[in-house]
Amino acid sequence: MALSRRAFVQQMSALGALGASAYVAGYLRDGSTSTSSLTSPVPTGTGVSGRVVVIGGGMAGTSAAKYLRAWGGDKVQVTLVERSAAYTSNIMSNGVLTGQTGLSSLQYSWNVLRSTYGVTVVTAEARGVDAAAKKVSLSDGSTLAYDRLVMAPGIAFDPLPGLTAGDYDSRFPHAWQAGSQTTLLRNQLLAMPAGGTFVMTIPAAPYRCPPGPYERACLVADWLRRNKPGSKVVVLDANPKIMAEPNAFGYAFGTLYAGMLTYVPNAVIDHVDAATRTVYLVGGGSYRADVLNPIPPSRAGVVAQNAGLVTVGGRWAGVDVLSYESAAVPGVHVIGDATGTTMPKSGHMANTQAKVVADAISRLLSGRALDQAPATSSACYSPISMSTASWLTGVFQYDPATRTMKAVAVTEAPDISSGNYSDMSKWFSGLMGDTFK
Ligand SMILES: Cc1cc2nc3c(=O)[nH]c(=O)nc-3n(C[C@H](O)[C@H](O)[C@H](O)COP(=O)(O)OP(=O)(O)OC[C@H]3O[C@@H](n4cnc5c(N)ncnc54)[C@H](O)[C@@H]3O)c2cc1C
Repeated sequence: MALSRRAFVQQMSALGALGASAYVAGYLRDGSTSTSSLTSPVPTGTGVSGRVVVIGGGMAGTSAAKYLRAWGGDKVQVTLVERSAAYTSNIMSNGVLTGQTGLSSLQYSWNVLRSTYGVTVVTAEARGVDAAAKKVSLSDGSTLAYDRLVMAPGIAFDPLPGLTAGDYDSRFPHAWQAGSQTTLLRNQLLAMPAGGTFVMTIPAAPYRCPPGPYERACLVADWLRRNKPGSKVVVLDANPKIMAEPNAFGYAFGTLYAGMLTYVPNAVIDHVDAATRTVYLVGGGSYRADVLNPIPPSRAGVVAQNAGLVTVGGRWAGVDVLSYESAAVPGVHVIGDATGTTMPKSGHMANTQAKVVADAISRLLSGRALDQAPATSSACYSPISMSTASWLTGVFQYDPATRTMKAVAVTEAPDISSGNYSDMSKWFSGLMGDTFK
């Protein structure tokens, strides 16, 4: 079954992510488009029972914990382990840089997961996994036993040559994990002199949120144009071309911000000289910044690396996309940005992968066959300026021949508009509501 572009976009913009996700989820579970499971949060008498531990309370892990209860029922004991006291959404966090969004408005708790879905939420860091004994050890010294483990730790960053991890926190924020670095980058932009230069770097794909860096370049350019006349933006992209929404970003870079924004493809970084805030490229060329935003390469979160889950490109966790069970460690399922698949690393995708894993684990715990035709989807609204946006959607379906998820519909917005910009907040609140509420 293929979703038409029209149906997909209608779901996205009119109903928000809840409509689209429930549509895909209903399709995943029984081949229909029913959303009736959402009216009864935790069903009884499903015939499904077992202990599931979820590591990571971000977009992927929180959605998985919620839907394991919503679909698996009250005999599935779900424990969510999250090291932070609150989740800060990366999505919409570029708006913090322009002062349009407050960081506190991007914070979410797991209260509804606890109170409405009966998930046990433990605030601790998961330190290790004993896959033979089926136990997870935590930073508080305790251990949790599981029948199935869901790993959703997101990503870890590799500092660029010349920079230390500490440099990112104190001087050169990547802000690719929303939080204090986002505030630091905002403050650096506020303090930058008019006529200064903002330099950002983009790692080679795959990286978290394909349109995200280009969106940031556009927003910062628009803000600088309004607030710091004469300033420049330099985008050093390790990739050979714009990796998402080439029409919208190509127009923005070449026309909207012509004369103030320089886009440099194939910009592989040799090193960063922290003392002079200068980026040196392999093969020559250097760029001095007043404000430097070096987005580093990344890999699966540390706990996934340590558990032996990395099998793709030395960086990402390989999985069977019918169940998201690890290619290396039985009984451990990996979802979200930590995985190495054909699907993009996005919050929306993490939310739909979580639904596939919730369905798959419910089936495995009750001895039923896995769904052989899962589908996932992704949507990103991308601000092109402080008042207009574009969007990108993708629908992926299981391809039995390659045993991968194949893109069956990838669509870029036909125009850049203020209407898209206002649809963006509806989509965002739908997605976050479907994840955290
Ligand atoms: C600037 C920016 C803009 C973006 N815009 C969009 C967008 O418009 N649309 C979109 O769909 N996506 C967007 N994204 C991407 C999106 O944020 C990620 O793809 C998504 O957050 C991935 O979800 P995840 O659950 O895999 O990881 P995360 O959301 O990062 O969650 C991982 C969680 O695991 C926890 N954790 C890690 N290790 C441990 C451990 N050992 N023990 C306990 N807890 C642990 C972390 O604290 C974290 O809460 C954007 C990203 C950025 C940076």
